[in-house]
Amino acid sequence: MSKVLVIGAGGVSSVAVHKMAMNPDIFPHVSLASRTKAKCDAIAASVKQRTGQVIDTYAIDAEDVPALSALIRQIGPRLVVNLALPYQDLAIMEACLQTGTHYLDTANYEPRDEARFEYKWQWDLHDRFREKGLMALLGSGFDPGVTSVFAMWLKKHKLRTIRSLDILDCNGGDHGQHFATNFNPEINIREVTAPARHWNKGQWVETPAMTIREQFDFEGVGPKNMYLMYHEELESLARFLPELERGRFWMTFGDAYIQHLTVLQNVGMTRIDPVIYNGQEIVPLQFLAAVLPKPETLGPTTKGKTNIGDIATGEALDGSGEKTFYISNICDHEDAYRETGNQAISYTTGVPAMIGAAMIMTGAWAGDGVFNMEQMDPDPFMAMLNQHGLPWTCKELAGPLAF
Ligand code: NDP
Repeated sequence: MSKVLVIGAGGVSSVAVHKMAMNPDIFPHVSLASRTKAKCDAIAASVKQRTGQVIDTYAIDAEDVPALSALIRQIGPRLVVNLALPYQDLAIMEACLQTGTHYLDTANYEPRDEARFEYKWQWDLHDRFREKGLMALLGSGFDPGVTSVFAMWLKKHKLRTIRSLDILDCNGGDHGQHFATNFNPEINIREVTAPARHWNKGQWVETPAMTIREQFDFEGVGPKNMYLMYHEELESLARFLPELERGRFWMTFGDAYIQHLTVLQNVGMTRIDPVIYNGQEIVPLQFLAAVLPKPETLGPTTKGKTNIGDIATGEALDGSGEKTFYISNICDHEDAYRETGNQAISYTTGVPAMIGAAMIMTGAWAGDGVFNMEQMDPDPFMAMLNQHGLPWTCKELAGPLAF
């Protein structure tokens, strides 16, 4: 039972599958299934050429639970790695429950008709996973994922409590397109246009999307404008760091991205409710996603670096008073492309997905039920980040962010 089944064949899946194939001691047998089999075959061909490993491929609609359960029974994996879209999370979890298979994903469930980001639906499955002796690991990408592991590593090794936490996500890459998103455009635009929310003294504070802006000088990238946003790990961090007074998430956007997005919003192209066009229902955002560049095509042209990390302030473990630490990873788009044929946003998500899967396959992380990254020992995961392409650094700052 050392097989793994990956579902979805976009940029994140491509990186995760390449990285699994580079670690055949942990992943001796990888299967890949997605809606479009040709995309699975293209990933398998690249993996064969780069690593010599053979990946078997299948067509599947992951929302068809009986068909997916039959495929899981046919392959017999120990773990299903869900790298399709958040809409499929609950169906894939159901198929795992029906077939007795562990589960992992990188993004929380979202209903298609509502941009609502919360873990509730997946946390509600805890008892069913527990009763079956199965593990579901939620959010094993970079953010969510590594950002939570960073926070828990600081809490284990540097800080007794985390009073304030800022997650800073900077993409300093340039893909040469007028407007494109670095991961699935529909999911990306739903996230960016949702109201901003941050955690403050035990409650959520909501502000209109993209209205709070600050500048920050990112190592390896330079000064960038970053915007306060809601991001799903704030919910799990607020739950698993009960002492947290303030938790915020910031993401950088260039002026051209903001201008395009503003126009698209103003003309109604980011709407997620259906409209009738030529007698047929279409969802404007899904149509927009269909005409935008596919994230997996941006690899060859994207240059520059990402820098994603956490700034955490709290009482030092050694009793030396309040301290602030900044822990982050810098990833180079061109290096990521050379290694796996994908740009750094797919890379920084696909590598942690592979590492989370490795934690389950090796038994380094185990448990019966539905778990977030914050509930696991950060050390083996942090060690694998250093070994598999996402090295991190931790430095002390004079104090928390001034804003
Ligand atoms: P893509 O859109 O490039 O790929 C998604 C894949 O899922 C496609 O191959 C698509 O098939 C497949 N798919 C969609 N619907 C179904 C279905 N019903 N059944 C089977 N397969 C399906 O997305 P990305 O690779 O950019 O992102 C993958 C996931 O990673 C997303 O959930 C995203 O939110 C998440 N993510 C997480 C991040 C993190 O740091 N935690 C960061 C970035 C992304 P087809 O090819 O036919 O369209």
